[in-house]
Amino acid sequence: MKITKVETILLAVPCSSNGAIRPSTGRSWSAFDVLLVRIDTDAGISGWGEAFGRARDLPLKAVIDAHIAPKLIGQDPTRIEAIKHDLEFRLHNTGRIGGIAYGIAAVDIALWDILGKRAGLPLHQLIGGLVTPELPVYASFLRYGSVEGVRGAVRKALAEGYRHIKLHEIGIAENLAAREEAGPDVAIMLDVNCPWTVSQSIDAARRLAPGNFDWLEEPVWPPENYGGLGEIRRKGSLRIAAGENAGSLHDFKAMFDAGAIDVAQPDLAKAGGISEALRIDALAEAHGVDVVPHCATFGPGLLATIHFNASRRRPPLLERLYFAFDEHPIGAVAEPVDGFVKVPTGPGLGYDPDPRVIERYRVEPAEFAWT
Ligand SMILES: [Mg+2]
Repeated sequence: MKITKVETILLAVPCSSNGAIRPSTGRSWSAFDVLLVRIDTDAGISGWGEAFGRARDLPLKAVIDAHIAPKLIGQDPTRIEAIKHDLEFRLHNTGRIGGIAYGIAAVDIALWDILGKRAGLPLHQLIGGLVTPELPVYASFLRYGSVEGVRGAVRKALAEGYRHIKLHEIGIAENLAAREEAGPDVAIMLDVNCPWTVSQSIDAARRLAPGNFDWLEEPVWPPENYGGLGEIRRKGSLRIAAGENAGSLHDFKAMFDAGAIDVAQPDLAKAGGISEALRIDALAEAHGVDVVPHCATFGPGLLATIHFNASRRRPPLLERLYFAFDEHPIGAVAEPVDGFVKVPTGPGLGYDPDPRVIERYRVEPAEFAWT
């Protein structure tokens, strides 16, 4: 089997952010970007991957087209480890995290999809087997920026059946109001996306203690201040989570060596795909650190994360951004029912992106004007 074609496809799928405001624009979200990588083979099998991308990332699409896709043509797609290393080694001087890494992660996911389809087995069967057929999902809220907004979102999510929520509020009042609204039995995590210094983070962690939050995610700037994270972890009163901005196993090793985190959050569409997540998971286990992957995708990246989580001995919660869609790139599997998703059982990732959704929402470079 040989790779014959690699195609990148950028979608902007209409969505609602349930009233949350996008910090970069001050407006609510109207579309969610999905950057697909499709790999075709001479055996008639196609695999699908997804790279983390935001803001109509046509530049990242172009980077994958120019620097990654040509290196894949003619290769045997079942040589996943060799292909991944070859791409990483040949492209390492363009950055070990960021666009190139996201593209390589997408390729890794697509190659595992091909392997599963050729074997006639779902991905989870290739990476350890199914531990649970249904995964608990946490509603990963966007930022509402007001007590009323976050209270309303909590009520809505609980009515939909979620029992796990992650907040993205920075204000102490908004976060404690969410706990009050949810009551004591709902698991609530807190993600602030790197706004604070170490001392500010320690102070915030102490003021947040009454909220009984399951973790505090990425409190400090910059995210790779692992020593700082370790200090917050020791002096604050909250478990610390981080890892969505890490690029590889070695970034996680540095976090573990610094005693920085309780919860490791590799993102399969950013950091080396399924292959790297398996390595990170093993290292985390040896260090007594939990792994709960970061997931901010709605295509093959989400599917890969479902298979990964469902095949771990203690299946982690699945992160799902709290967007509402009329149409999904991968169909109903992305919609939790009573706070759970069913793990796909078809070969590979289990679902290919919907060709009708691709056709309708594809962003073509010539049609897009940067603003
Ligand atoms: Mg986060």
